[in-house]
Amino acid sequence: MADQYAVIGNPVAHSKSPLIHAAFARQTGQDLVYTRLLAPKDAFVATANAFRERGGRGLNVTLPFKGEAFRYATVLSAGARAAQAVNTLKFDGNTVFGDNTDGAGLVNDLLHNLGFALAGQRVLLLGSGGAARGVIEPLLQQKPAQFVLANRTPDKARQLAEDFRGAIEARSYDALADGQFDLVINATSASLAGELPPLPPGVFAHGALAYDMMYGRNETPFLAFARDQGAGQLADGLGMLVEQAAVSFFIWRGIRPDSAPVLQLLRQPQDA
Ligand code: NDP
Repeated sequence: MADQYAVIGNPVAHSKSPLIHAAFARQTGQDLVYTRLLAPKDAFVATANAFRERGGRGLNVTLPFKGEAFRYATVLSAGARAAQAVNTLKFDGNTVFGDNTDGAGLVNDLLHNLGFALAGQRVLLLGSGGAARGVIEPLLQQKPAQFVLANRTPDKARQLAEDFRGAIEARSYDALADGQFDLVINATSASLAGELPPLPPGVFAHGALAYDMMYGRNETPFLAFARDQGAGQLADGLGMLVEQAAVSFFIWRGIRPDSAPVLQLLRQPQDA
């Protein structure tokens, strides 16, 4: 029987992960089946256990279970510990290895798909939820010149900055008016609600890259604002999605798939 993998979440019907991993498996000749696993909101552990008992080899974890997956893992990567969240589980007997590939996915998308070298750049990250926390350490590893974090609830940003031992600077949205940034990443869920984070004008440096972790058919209010403000390059989070999946695939199968044709496939209008 082919090895079993799945993405676990609630809701999970919208997930593009089965399409992405099926494409990776075809491309690399790996014999695996990847499905969606809808877990009741109060039954992550029971659902994951049942999947393992059926012979499941690994899971991707999406909302709202990344924190529970972090506690479920018996061995954690350094990235998962920094993020305090797990989006990839690998099962090996009684051992449950937990990793977080979101940050590596974002960095790979920035470096390789968008050609944006982070070293020496001024970076502004918006949001202080799970997605923001998960990408901070991998972004810092690229040695930006400046790393500022802004959040609607400023205390959360301050706490996060403390957790990263002062390597990042927390600022209120109002205080952003004094600075300009080469990369502005929207890691808030504002786009999901069709809203714009309360960014003052003037934060985008000439030619800046505006990156929204959200992806979908329509341009988000954040990307529309960035365009109006003269940002030089706009990107949504589809590349991050494909790249985080590629890192998960490598963790499970030991083979690095080629993400470019899969990203191209997802960009086709019928799959957007
Ligand atoms: P969380 O619910 O953990 O955090 C939400 C964050 O957004 C908080 O910081 C919240 O601020 C902020 N926020 C919400 N609404 C607004 C608003 N109107 N204005 C300003 N700030 C706002 O969500 P996640 O961190 O898990 O996810 C954030 C986004 O990242 C989602 O859109 C998700 O889809 C996307 N994502 C994309 C991935 C990809 O592969 N492309 C991977 C992971 C996430 P406050 O603290 O004040 O409430």
